[in-house]
Amino acid sequence: MTVRTVSQLPRDPGPAAWNDILGPGARYPEAEGDITADWLVIGGGFAGLSAAKRLSELRGGDDIIILEATRIGAGPAGRNSGFMIDLPHELGADSYAASEEIDRKQIALNRHAQAFAKANAAEFDMPAEAVAEVGRVNGAVNAHGKAHNDAYAAHLANLGEAFTQMDAAAMQEMTGSEFYSSGLFMPGAVMLQPALYIRALAEGLTQKQSHPVSLYEQSPALSFTQQADSWLIETPKAKIKAKYVIMAVNGHAESFGFYKNRLMHVFTYASMTEALTDDQQQRLGGQKSWGITPSDPMGSTIRRHDGIGGNRIIVRNRWTFDPEMTVSDKRIAAFGRDQDASFQARFPMLHDVKMAYRWSGRLCLSRNSVPAFGEVEQNWFSACCQNGLGTAKGTLAGIGAVDLATKANSPIVQDLLSYDAPQKLPPRPLSTIGANIVLKWREFKAGAEL
Ligand SMILES: Cc1cc2nc3c(=O)[nH]c(=O)nc-3n(C[C@H](O)[C@H](O)[C@H](O)COP(=O)(O)OP(=O)(O)OC[C@H]3O[C@@H](n4cnc5c(N)ncnc54)[C@H](O)[C@@H]3O)c2cc1C
Repeated sequence: MTVRTVSQLPRDPGPAAWNDILGPGARYPEAEGDITADWLVIGGGFAGLSAAKRLSELRGGDDIIILEATRIGAGPAGRNSGFMIDLPHELGADSYAASEEIDRKQIALNRHAQAFAKANAAEFDMPAEAVAEVGRVNGAVNAHGKAHNDAYAAHLANLGEAFTQMDAAAMQEMTGSEFYSSGLFMPGAVMLQPALYIRALAEGLTQKQSHPVSLYEQSPALSFTQQADSWLIETPKAKIKAKYVIMAVNGHAESFGFYKNRLMHVFTYASMTEALTDDQQQRLGGQKSWGITPSDPMGSTIRRHDGIGGNRIIVRNRWTFDPEMTVSDKRIAAFGRDQDASFQARFPMLHDVKMAYRWSGRLCLSRNSVPAFGEVEQNWFSACCQNGLGTAKGTLAGIGAVDLATKANSPIVQDLLSYDAPQKLPPRPLSTIGANIVLKWREFKAGAEL
């Protein structure tokens, strides 16, 4: 029996701001000693926790374990911008939309993920800000952005989807800023406080179910061995024997030896302000919470959020391709200056507001925008590679992996199994240089939207 080692563990650059502003959360033990379970879920993000929830629904009497390498809410799940988007949002392309038929199917599936999150919020009594049905706006700053939005709106009209065009005055009324010349409001987006949702889901799974899930933090899977009728997974202090494994580690699937040279490890960067004072909020005006995605996919995402951590503004922009799966503090600081510039351009009246947090986070894309999904070895299921939109797609992948493993032939499984395998990447350093040139060119084209 060959022991296979996990080549690299996750390193999360900078703080997970959404998690930090909540204050300390529940702590879960480290895995220790010999443990046996029916199901082992590796990874405590959207995919992993959704898998554990689905398992609790379908196999409530089984023993279910989750291993998280770091802390719940500290990984990409607690560092994303929290847009759980129903509509097509293809990050790898020049526009967000694909073909009508593909888009209709994706919308239905994304709405299934949203409904799953909303049901979890209700079942586990989450605060309203964890999962809020408030919609989002594609903001435009000039004719180029407006053209993007108009093309997208025409596509939505064909699909029979609701939207509202906003002029500069309506944008200012919402944001307090004169920056945007127009916008496209889409009511179906669900906005998450991502760390709050993930924490509350973990708490619900471990504390609010009649047959609770066992969750271990700071317990990375270090190696794994296939045995006659089970898998043996070793962590620093435990040996875990499980019949079925759901691997929900997004791009780190490659660290487990799967999908080698087929996954693109991309980082994006963000800053979050300190909590705005009453005076600053008054100066800003506008609504207390809203979310703007850029009309050009490479522009800045801006969000104002009101909740447990106060009223804050979050700016996310810049993309880099980093196959080593790590980025330097120097890079975060340099891109932080871009976020400051984006903030000042939009909110000159908030010249005295400082950024309290700066961070970066991993995403996993494939060249042909397909998931890394399926039974990759006997009873070892992959729920990885969310192609950017992991709040919805990770949720679907986690549910889908369980449906596949339990032979529940759901539309999610049918969809996730319908794709080709992730395409091979060109050899390094060609792929790194090529991908970074494309990203820089597309950022340059997004220009004013940064
Ligand atoms: C700044 C930023 C903004 C973003 N904005 C959005 C957004 O607005 N909307 C959206 O949909 N998506 C957004 N994303 C992407 C989204 O965060 C990811 O797609 C999503 O987190 C993927 O979910 P996941 O569960 O597949 O993986 P992850 O959230 O990465 O979870 C995988 C977990 O596996 C753990 N793990 C890895 N290796 C091991 C191991 N060996 N043993 C045990 N555990 C392990 C990791 O620590 C991690 O917690 C954003 C990402 C970033 C960085």
